[in-house]
Amino acid sequence: MKRLVILGASGSIGMQTIDVVLQHPADFCIRALGVGRNIACLEEILKKIDVSVVSVQKEEDAAMLAEKYPDIRFYHGEAGLLTLAASMDYDVLVNALVGFAGFMPTLKAIESGHDVALANKETLVCGGALIEKALDRYGRRLYPIDSEHSAIFQALQGNDISSVRRLIITASGGSFRNKTREELKDVTVEQALAHPNWSMGAKITIDSADMMNKGFEVIEAHWLFRMPYEKIDVLMHPESVIHSMVEYCDHSVMAQMGVPDMRLPIQYALTAPKRCELQEETLDLAAIGSLHFSRPDTERFPLLALAYEAGKKGGNLCAVMNAANEAANLAFRQGRIPFLMIEDIVIGAVRECTWDPMDSVDALLEADAWGTEYALTKIEEVQ
Ligand code: MG
Repeated sequence: MKRLVILGASGSIGMQTIDVVLQHPADFCIRALGVGRNIACLEEILKKIDVSVVSVQKEEDAAMLAEKYPDIRFYHGEAGLLTLAASMDYDVLVNALVGFAGFMPTLKAIESGHDVALANKETLVCGGALIEKALDRYGRRLYPIDSEHSAIFQALQGNDISSVRRLIITASGGSFRNKTREELKDVTVEQALAHPNWSMGAKITIDSADMMNKGFEVIEAHWLFRMPYEKIDVLMHPESVIHSMVEYCDHSVMAQMGVPDMRLPIQYALTAPKRCELQEETLDLAAIGSLHFSRPDTERFPLLALAYEAGKKGGNLCAVMNAANEAANLAFRQGRIPFLMIEDIVIGAVRECTWDPMDSVDALLEADAWGTEYALTKIEEVQ
């Protein structure tokens, strides 16, 4: 029986993790849940599973819930998430938080001797070097939940990582894959949120529309598989059937395929290298008929090129890039800035910040604060 702590339980990945757990009651149990402000969703979850510890964002919610559920212990705020990650007795932390907020819980889980099933890619984008150091020091592992990285992880099974020629991360291209630069100027939030293949949270759907997400995934792959950037390629593949591939030194290419449903990568992160039954659709290649591939257009989507650049230069650049993106992504969703201004802000932040080796958590927090401040200043200017 694997004992889990799930952070971000009311989000898209969190809910699908609970679904996977409920499909295998003999294999998994949930020790603790972290949710944000979606208390209605939390209460729905509590009807389905028994859990003794919960953390929510707001103190008043924690107090209200403590009265209503006397058998459950409630924590709140960032400290609550860290308590769950560090102090509980469990086997795997499922980190399904969104954004930079996911970094510290991942680090605390590793430092307290836990493995992490990671859906929060920002953890590695911002602080990959710090996480790598902690993994080595505490002898812990990360299991990818991101579908592309799960595909690579699966395609690596039984092979020697030193014989890898390159990783090929596939990209659907998001909501605007067929739009010209000119057309991207006045796209709306509603259009950006309509992803053609995947149903995901709002932040990542916008990150997919400008391909920041794919850039983040390149950085994530660099840290997860300890692969140099020169050996990581992105390939456009609009059908999202091949979730990613690994090419070996003999030019054999291993691809992992499936329907676009996150429950498979979630489950594999929790059972690998073992496989378990999963109730989901069968991939019907005959019905799909044909698959398409093309090279990414980094002129149209410059954030992908920026991510490679920031990744290679390292230090604080990726943390600054992530922070600026987090603020700009939100401002776009709130209707405060046009779509293309997201990239202006993110590129500007990386160009204008002073490079720093960022060898501590304090330096990471500083880089994050700088990137956020830069973005907020730019957003203010257009108001
Ligand atoms: Mg992905």
